[in-house]
Order: sequence, then structure tokens, then C-alpha cells
Amino acid sequence: MKYSKYFGQTKRDQKQYESKNQTLLQKAGYIDQLSAGVYTFLPLGLRVINNINTVIREEMNAIGGQEILMPALVQKELWEKTKRWDLDVPFKTALYDGKEFALGWSHEEVVTPLAKQFISSYRDLPFAPYQIQTKFRNEARAKSGIMRGREFLMKDMYSFHIDQVDLDRFYLEATEAYRRVFTRVGLGNVIYLTFASGGVFSKFSHEFQVISDVGEDTVYVSEEKKVAINKEVYTDEVLSELGVKKESLIEKRSIEVGNIFKLGTRFSQAFDVTYADAEGKKHNPVMGCYGIGPSRVMGTMVEVLADDKGLVWPKEVAPYQVHLVNIQAEEQAQRVYDLLQKAGVEVLWDDRDLRAGEKFTDADLIGLPLRVVVSEKTGDRVEVKARAGGESPIVGMEEMVKMVKKGEE
Ligand code: ATP
Ligand code: MG
Repeated sequence: MKYSKYFGQTKRDQKQYESKNQTLLQKAGYIDQLSAGVYTFLPLGLRVINNINTVIREEMNAIGGQEILMPALVQKELWEKTKRWDLDVPFKTALYDGKEFALGWSHEEVVTPLAKQFISSYRDLPFAPYQIQTKFRNEARAKSGIMRGREFLMKDMYSFHIDQVDLDRFYLEATEAYRRVFTRVGLGNVIYLTFASGGVFSKFSHEFQVISDVGEDTVYVSEEKKVAINKEVYTDEVLSELGVKKESLIEKRSIEVGNIFKLGTRFSQAFDVTYADAEGKKHNPVMGCYGIGPSRVMGTMVEVLADDKGLVWPKEVAPYQVHLVNIQAEEQAQRVYDLLQKAGVEVLWDDRDLRAGEKFTDADLIGLPLRVVVSEKTGDRVEVKARAGGESPIVGMEEMVKMVKKGEE
């Protein structure tokens, strides 16, 4: 991609927002705000989201998840069955004939009646449909940039089982799949499996929390065990049940990037879903739900990885791997560009007629993993520098391609 043609270039005079992720992502040309909590994703931003979604899809598919896409318009009757129509969170609307709807903010009310059509015997279970879809929530305070949207992307998966034992088995597999997702997107070192409140059917739910001062949650972290306990369940009884000592825990602010929850039979009862066991006896399937916010994950990466020069993307989600910068030397740059593209490397080439300093400032702001500089000075050779820091050797073409390929691994 030639940056001179890019739709949504960096801004010089970006207003400062309350949240770092919003300010930086807007300044760097990844997103644009339409109103509080409502954003457009520009080409670079969408590439990050798509990369995150690809990892999520692969890991959900690997444990048997099957992708579907449910509607966002959900009629009042369904929410009334679960007593979730009168909450503050839904955005509501009505049709010309007066029929009322809420825009989907969670999809148990859609997926459960859907599943009902495909469940009659125990042989039909288990299954786990999921979607990556826009959710709508009337969030009271939408000041955390893309970490708290009023309209935002969520991956939500729902699992259906014959009994608690099978749910527990799948729930563990989902926990491991979530760990793999966060490790693969580059958050492995900062993620904490967190015990949180469970509800009627299970003592705990589990959150995936990233420690950060801008987080809206409070957790108690055990560094030794790499787990955390949400303030909402932080009692002496819980500590002794989990076998952690109060003295070993540190209070921290954190960002919830994922949440998994055992729903039990709350929704299968509400929608009268049953299956027949081997003796023909009827039971309600036992359910679990599993959420991740791709846009919150992206915002979290900015909060925890960006530095004073700008964004710093983990290579797994970076919109392009290489930022090619030429200082004059256009022909040489074209050769490097062609060479990298032929090697299957995704390159953003800043081909604009600007001063070197301006191009470097923008490259740091945009935050791609590797910068390759071509100038009269480097001649047949190029300078390679990692955004995250370190040396910047001047190397030959073959060596450069090798370094880039190695960086991609
Ligand atoms: P919070 O307590 O932060 O409001 P929640 O408990 O309402 O989160 P869930 O309903 O469990 O969140 O949603 C699943 C996932 O969706 C969350 O872990 C988070 O990653 C993401 N998410 C939730 N609300 C938002 C939002 N307003 N904007 C962006 N992502 C969100
Ligand atoms: Mg919420």
C-alpha cells in the first residue's frame, strides 16, 4: 500500500481526548469518532480488528465452535421472556406498526430459541455457535475510546450441553482457547485469568483482565499464580477456597477483555428448550456463554503498549509488517517494495514527498513492527529498525528480507 493514496492519513492537530487510545488511534488514522462511543474503523484500524478476529475464529473453531451471524433487531417478546426488556442498557426502537425491538446487546434471547429448533434428543448435543457482530449498549459513560463503545464488536459464543459435567468440560476447553487467543495477539504476558461473580448456577465466572491504570475494574493479583480475583468476590472465604494468601495479593486497576460464564438452565428454561435422554426423560440443556470484545482488545493494546512516540503493535495484529520510508531514492524504494511484496510481506510505503523527519514521526506514530529506510546514503543497502526499539543495522537486500521474515514468525 502506498501511503500517498491512503484514505485517512495521520493528523497533525489532533484534539486530546480523555483516553489515550482514542487520541492516538485518531491521530494515527486508524479510527474516527462519530459520537461518544461510536466509531468508524479506517483501513488501518480495520486491518487490526480483522487480524484479531482471525485469531479468535481459529481458536473458537478449534474447540468446535461454529460461526453464525444473528440479527441485531430483536423483538420485545423475546426480552420479556427473560425479564431483560426493562433494563437500562438496550437501545430500543419501534416499527411503523408499533412493534417494539431492542438492538441486540447480548444474544441469549436469539440463540436459545434458535437452538430449540435443533434439539430434541441427547444425541443433538453439545454444540457451540458463535458470532462476531456489532452490539449496541446504552453505556452511561463512554469515555474510554474504543474500549467502551455504545456500538462495538463482540465475539459471543453460546454452548449447549446435556449436563453440568459436559458444560464443565467445554468451559475448561474454552478457558484454554481464550488463553491461546490472548497469547497469540501478543497480550500473553499481561493477561490474568480472574475469578469474578458467578450468579445462580456457578460460584464464579471468569474474566480475562489486563492490568492497566486506566482500567475500570479493581482486581487483586497473585503474580506467583498468574491469577486475579475481582473485587466483587474478594472475601476471606473465597481466598481460602482458592488457596491464596491475602498478603501475596496486590490491588490493581484492570481492563476486562474477555468474560466466560456458566448460564445453567436459566435461558433454556425461559424458552422451554428440552431434550430427551436415553430413557426418553426430558431435561433442559445446560448452557455457557463466552464473550470477547475485539475493539476493546485493540484499545487495550494501545493503552498498554504505546509509548510517547505513538502506537506499537504486536506483530500478530499489526496492519502491515513493514513501514518502508524513502528519502528521495524512489527507484531504490520501488525495488525494495516489489521485493518484499514478492516475498509475501505486507508493506506500507510512505512514498510522499516529505522531509525525512516528518516521515519518521509518522512511522513511529503508526507503529508497524519494522521500519525499512532507503536513502541515497544507504545506496544499495537499507536500514532496518524495530518499532519496539533496539539497533538499526544497515544491511543488504537479501539480509533485509531474511530479517523481515524472521520478524514475522
Ligand atoms: P463491562 O463490565 O466492562 O461493562 P460486561 O461485563 O458488560 O463488561 P460482557 O457483557 O461480559 O461485558 O461482554 C463480553 C466482552 O465484550 C467483554 O469482556 C468486553 O471485552 C466486551 N465489551 C463489553 N462491553 C463493551 C463495550 N461497551 N465496548 C467494547 N467492548 C465491550
Ligand atoms: Mg457492561
